[in-house]
Amino acid sequence: MQDSTPTTPGATVLGYPRIGRRRELKKAVEGFWAGRLDGAALDETAAAVRRDALDTMSAAELDSVPVNTFSWYDQVLDTCVLVGAVPERHLAVSGDHALAGFDAARYFAMARGTADVTPMEMTKWFDTNYHYIVPEIGPETAFALHADKPLTEYSEASASGLSARPVVVGPYTFLTLAKPADGVDDAFDPLSRLDDLVEIYAQLLGELHAAGVEWVQIDEPAAVRELAPEQVTLLRGVYDRLGAVADRPKILVATYFAAPVEALPALAETPVEGFALDLVRGFDADDVSGIDLSTKTLLLGAVNGRNVWRNDLSATLASLQAWKDVSASASISTSCSLLHVPYDVAVETGLEPRLAETLAFAVQKLDEVVALDTAFTTGEQGAAFTDSDHAVAGHDQVPGLVDQAVRDRLAAVAAGDRDREPQDERDTAQAAELGLPALPTTTIGSFPQTTELRTARADLRRGTIDAAAYEKVMKDEVREVVALQEKLGLDVLVHGEPERNDMVQYFAEQLSGYAFTELAWVQSYGSRCVRPPILFGDISRPTPMTVAWSAFAQSLTDKPMKGMLTGPVTMLAWSFVREDQPRSVTSDQVALALRDEVHDLEAAGIRIIQVDEPALRETLPIRRSEQAEYLTWSVDSFRLATAGVAVGTQIHTHLCYSEFGEIIDAIDGLNADVTSIEAARSRMELLGDVAAHGFSGGLGPGVYDIHSPRVPGEHEVDELIAAALESLPATALWVNPDCGLKTRGYAEVEPALEHLVAATHRVRSRLG
Ligand code: GLN
Ligand code: ZN
Repeated sequence: MQDSTPTTPGATVLGYPRIGRRRELKKAVEGFWAGRLDGAALDETAAAVRRDALDTMSAAELDSVPVNTFSWYDQVLDTCVLVGAVPERHLAVSGDHALAGFDAARYFAMARGTADVTPMEMTKWFDTNYHYIVPEIGPETAFALHADKPLTEYSEASASGLSARPVVVGPYTFLTLAKPADGVDDAFDPLSRLDDLVEIYAQLLGELHAAGVEWVQIDEPAAVRELAPEQVTLLRGVYDRLGAVADRPKILVATYFAAPVEALPALAETPVEGFALDLVRGFDADDVSGIDLSTKTLLLGAVNGRNVWRNDLSATLASLQAWKDVSASASISTSCSLLHVPYDVAVETGLEPRLAETLAFAVQKLDEVVALDTAFTTGEQGAAFTDSDHAVAGHDQVPGLVDQAVRDRLAAVAAGDRDREPQDERDTAQAAELGLPALPTTTIGSFPQTTELRTARADLRRGTIDAAAYEKVMKDEVREVVALQEKLGLDVLVHGEPERNDMVQYFAEQLSGYAFTELAWVQSYGSRCVRPPILFGDISRPTPMTVAWSAFAQSLTDKPMKGMLTGPVTMLAWSFVREDQPRSVTSDQVALALRDEVHDLEAAGIRIIQVDEPALRETLPIRRSEQAEYLTWSVDSFRLATAGVAVGTQIHTHLCYSEFGEIIDAIDGLNADVTSIEAARSRMELLGDVAAHGFSGGLGPGVYDIHSPRVPGEHEVDELIAAALESLPATALWVNPDCGLKTRGYAEVEPALEHLVAATHRVRSRLG
């Protein structure tokens, strides 16, 4: 290091959206996949998306900008390329176009697979709704540096006079998120390759330095997990080693999504020059008073990178003052990358103007960062503060924000409103009511969303068909789905959910308190984007939402028809949620609306009601110390939604994952009569945990992996049921697929369900 006095990156952000303001990159990438677009056209769009990001950040007058935060697919996939961690099976794939020096066909084969090779796995990025590609690492993985992408993006930005800071995923996080490569023992720990990998990062630092880079940002979000002492030692070793590289840029280690409680004291003793800290979900200045950060540069993440609400600049500024005593070298940033928020609220013409005033997307957040940084460093509060104060003062004028009836009703909720009769009483009453055979068969709710259904929905939106014509298409579909299930011999039927575009949006559109955007897309994975609804006000249900569909479906059959709702936790998890009241309150408001829906379904003759909570696990806070509180209110809300039913009405829930062990108490606490979960892929392994723990209601571990186009054979399903019966009594076991069938085709679904029913019959006759 030549420079001993640290200079700060100044006002900046940790990352920027990259899908394009109008999803240009999505369209280009998908066009490239389909062969409609050549490589040059893809490059052109990608360059324009990066250019727009740089121009926007430059116009906002940030002091420095992040680069290498663009991606054609995912930043963890890009890191695999950067360090040469390409799975063996993808090496054979090649084409005639390169993305920053890496074969494009190979890159996309890693992400999506081809007819011949399977893709890498994908999973959720910490507690967000963004999915990353899971690195595959083995003892033989031959790490090698391919720094073209960060170098190209750096020169692109510096050529236009910007002070640019390359961003890379750090080695500790990269290996923490990795899994053993194909053919490598499951017990292999990718972190055992840390020393080798760090040498690649050391080389990278050398190349960045040679290119003139002043600061590099190394993202280590995995450092916010509760680290054991050995893990702290590993992490510290990484930054001691990288700090010792002779000619290198200054290193800024960025953590986010929680406080790096165990990591920061150790990292503070390494030679790295700076830290980016999430002040929204992380530390207060008091919390770091025992750590000497006086010689470090701090990037204070005071503007929330994960929500869409306007910052209360005056309040934030007040909370920042104490950081001046922590380090004299501090500036302002976002809590995490802006990847998680949409581009620009100014283009939303359909929002109620007073609501729009309370929102800030990426473009607006840049201005907030700059305003805060100026005030923090010079004491000068510009017009942005006046505007912010004004918006804060006007917040309670937003129409629909407060609904006194909803608040009064919630205040009157009593503890008993969340309780039902004991399980054995419910079991007896439900057995009499429903008369189901042993090992009842059912599905999770949706049936394939055919082209015909999608077209009808698009036509309705465009106005080429009217509501009546749309409804007819949907009703015909329900008829067919019910007839198919009767033919297949399933025991508990569903209507198939053809009328639902999305399990959250469908309900959000029918509740008061939600708002919708036109262009506020955020990347979910690869080219997939979502447009989360904005939950801004008190929630109520003006009219029944699903009753007509379920009642119609029930009228077509004598078998029990399952009503199908999305639970409160999931309604929050896949929305942008207001922050002016605790999430527990908002969740309970949704629960009360659902409670009414449950009641109306019951009154319409529906005897089984499923309330899906696929997001319960994914929004579990990263740090254990915060998990108990979350689980308490989320379980309570589910119970508020469901506990109002008669003893003979059966409540089901569905959870979309198999990592069950960690939160099994909470799941049991939901007090559902039947819980369906994913289990086919792991071949019922999780049931050991369940048996050991004890579980009160019925359980439907999936016996058909709907994430794969493969049709399971009858024999295979039989084996899975038999495996389940080793851990569960026959009286508790349900037979169902892993998840909804909406992404599959009938060509697979029909034979798969046929095998599921036939296998169940075989097991039943063996049981006698
Ligand atoms: N009932 C929903 C369906 O079947 C559940 C979806 C989910 O679990 N994500 O589609
Ligand atoms: Zn599911």
